[in-house]
Amino acid sequence: MQSLSDALRAAVDGRVSWTIGVVLAGALLLQIGVEIFRGLLRAFYDRRQQRATMERLRLQVQEARLRQKDAEKASLVWNGCRKFSVVKKTSECEDVFAFYLKPHDGKPIPAFKPGQYLTFQLDIPGRDKPLVRCYSLSDSPHRSDYYRVTIKKEKAPADRPELPPGAASSFFSDTIKEGDILNVKAPTGHFFLDMARSNPVVLIAGGVGVTPMLSMANAIAASGSKREAWFFFGVRNEQEHIHKAELEKLAAENENIHVHICYSRASAKAQKGRDYQHEGRVSIELLKQLLPSSNFEYYLCGNGAFMKSITDGLELWGVPEKDVYFEAFGPATVKKKATPATAIEVMQQSKLQVTFARSGKTLSWAPSAANLLEFAQAQGVRIDSGCCAGSCGSCLVAIKSGSVDYLKPPDTEPEQGTCLTCICRPKGDLVLDA
Ligand SMILES: Cc1cc2nc3c(=O)[nH]c(=O)nc-3n(C[C@H](O)[C@H](O)[C@H](O)COP(=O)(O)OP(=O)(O)OC[C@H]3O[C@@H](n4cnc5c(N)ncnc54)[C@H](O)[C@@H]3O)c2cc1C
Repeated sequence: MQSLSDALRAAVDGRVSWTIGVVLAGALLLQIGVEIFRGLLRAFYDRRQQRATMERLRLQVQEARLRQKDAEKASLVWNGCRKFSVVKKTSECEDVFAFYLKPHDGKPIPAFKPGQYLTFQLDIPGRDKPLVRCYSLSDSPHRSDYYRVTIKKEKAPADRPELPPGAASSFFSDTIKEGDILNVKAPTGHFFLDMARSNPVVLIAGGVGVTPMLSMANAIAASGSKREAWFFFGVRNEQEHIHKAELEKLAAENENIHVHICYSRASAKAQKGRDYQHEGRVSIELLKQLLPSSNFEYYLCGNGAFMKSITDGLELWGVPEKDVYFEAFGPATVKKKATPATAIEVMQQSKLQVTFARSGKTLSWAPSAANLLEFAQAQGVRIDSGCCAGSCGSCLVAIKSGSVDYLKPPDTEPEQGTCLTCICRPKGDLVLDA
């Protein structure tokens, strides 16, 4: 009996030990499994981290190379005017021509930043002094042997057909031909796309305002970067579709550049899907419908009403003002918000008297005017203008008495006793020789 119970106990003990052994072995295996999994996970994250670090380094090296290239090319910048030959003139659409320019001295030309412009000093027969006008560079800065500008002949205003058409743009369209030589100042301008960065951007253009945007999009394509860009271009119809073939090629060859053409008055000949993508104007509703979010940097160029409607819409959509950049081809109609003047300041400013001596007009200063040039033009006093950014010097006027406040430092300090009217306002009562 004794031996039977001993045998049973031994059997139970054996089973328990076996079970414990199995459980222990299982636990050990599980532990090993967990350790292996952890090791694999760590290796995976390390690799990912390494890849991210390598990518960051690659971008930093690329950025440093680009900045070095820019610095090298900047040393080629010239002072004053340099002679350029028109090597090609092409008709881009109704009243719009592209001009390809090479330096007459055959020496290298500096790179520019996409969005910058050239300043021309034009000797137009019948005028007593050269006419200064700015035109945006419309091709990629990677084309290192020529510059291209695209110019629209400006018609007389619709409500004043008796006036002559634009002087400089007509001269370019009607007179300038291949082989002609032009006086050109070096590329400049503060409205440009920083090519060392890779953040996503939205380029929005109306009419001939497409020129700086085309340069930006061409620069992204030519750099080979995968930077995301959305390009919205609004025109009336195919007759105004500037650089149509080039835009179509850009869209077809670059999946990171999404080109959307809007026709507001498409003709019966135009085909949606082939010539254009959307009926109507470029609008904030269209942007909201197509963009994955509002989280982009926005670059705008077009007429005043167009830019105002888009900038207002972007503000309502919650896009910070610092992410919106724009260029006006004439007096600015969109203004970056300044600290609002107090009621007392506005009252004091409106008491200031501005006299345009040659025109025989004395007027009360309008505190809402952006600058003296805009004020003069609104009062029918004609002052020459070019860049409207204080760099080309066309709007320089002599001060007979009084002084001015600059809204931004001029690119080149004007001579004593003169002011660049496009970037200043009166400091007190002022008499100008205009
Ligand atoms: C930075 C910048 C970049 C630019 N880039 C481009 C570009 O890429 N492409 C482009 O095409 N343009 C561009 N422009 C615009 C360009 O510089 C000129 O302003 C434009 O070509 C018109 O100049 P204009 O001499 O032909 O016209 P203006 O002779 O200056 O005439 C302008 C308008 O005034 C009218 N006018 C004529 N006489 C009178 C009068 N007595 N009273 C009232 N009105 C009158 C004309 O009919 C015309 O409609 C740019 C401008 C800037 C500032």
